[in-house]
Amino acid sequence: NGYHTCGSNDTLASAHPSDSRKGHDMTTSSVSPVTTELAGSETGITLVIHAGAGSRGKHSTPERIAQVELDLQRALDAGYQLLESGAPAHEAVVAAIHVMEDAPEFNAGRGAALTSDGIAQMDACLMTGDGEVGAVTGVSTVKNPIDAARAVKEQTKHVLFADPTDAEIADWGVATESNEYFITEPARRQSLAEAQSGGDEWEKHGTIGAVARDAEGNIAAGTSTGGITNQMHGRVGDSPLPGCGTFANQSTVAVSCTGIGEAFIKVVAAHQVSDRVRFSGENVEDAATATLDEVAAHHGDGGMIVLPAVGRGVVAYNSEMMNFGYRSAQGGKVQG
Ligand code: ASP
Repeated sequence: NGYHTCGSNDTLASAHPSDSRKGHDMTTSSVSPVTTELAGSETGITLVIHAGAGSRGKHSTPERIAQVELDLQRALDAGYQLLESGAPAHEAVVAAIHVMEDAPEFNAGRGAALTSDGIAQMDACLMTGDGEVGAVTGVSTVKNPIDAARAVKEQTKHVLFADPTDAEIADWGVATESNEYFITEPARRQSLAEAQSGGDEWEKHGTIGAVARDAEGNIAAGTSTGGITNQMHGRVGDSPLPGCGTFANQSTVAVSCTGIGEAFIKVVAAHQVSDRVRFSGENVEDAATATLDEVAAHHGDGGMIVLPAVGRGVVAYNSEMMNFGYRSAQGGKVQG
């Protein structure tokens, strides 16, 4: 029915570099009304994760969906275990993201979408509710880009590094791989070929992210992505930009977004959710819905996970589907 996907090659089939240069719409289709689901407990430890939003596409099979759900479950387990042992929220976020970066199913780390010149250029951001944040964009050798984001946050006085040097990466002590490691054959190469030949089908989607609340009530958010298939070399999406694809403020919410990054940047989506809660007194669900309506006004589709310091989390999306999972003392769920 004409939905467009996020982090997938058909997104770029419409959001082609020539279009974005001219500032044209990023999609050619209308977007759905926002779907929301409450996630996690009112208080206490909670972990909410996502692995992209979009449409299923013709390559979707029950086996693939089962694999996605297995990977989401493993990511939840890894992060939640840490929260149960008293670890801070950002450690749970990093642990959950690690699992999803390593899983080739998702558009982050291994399995990242490819740029128009056929390489993986990845972005990541990690932010804690106290306002501390680190991010990287355009990394092509960091095995787990979220580790580099964390290193920027914890080891430097800066916030955002574009294409850090090998020496900087070595200094941060994060693991590296050659760019081939990230490129899954044939899936991502095929997606790129299809996008470049004007096709509009995508094999996989799935920028990933996590938001967590720890036993002390502190919140954190993280996002990791390969961007959008066939994106121009050097294109930066919303994911690594604090306030756009990733944001956390202890007095409001932690947010991680997925979708057509350009639209999320234009409405400063993650920060907008926080502002709506903070200054308009909107509840988290209404804030996420209103923000996604603004994203839609810029012809963007996608979704977000939002977790307040006190209150239940929310999964919200205006695309056909979203991969997500959550867990708290009340139980949990995964949806692939
Ligand atoms: N938001 C990501 C980007 O624009 C893509 C995605 O969510 O799949 O880079």
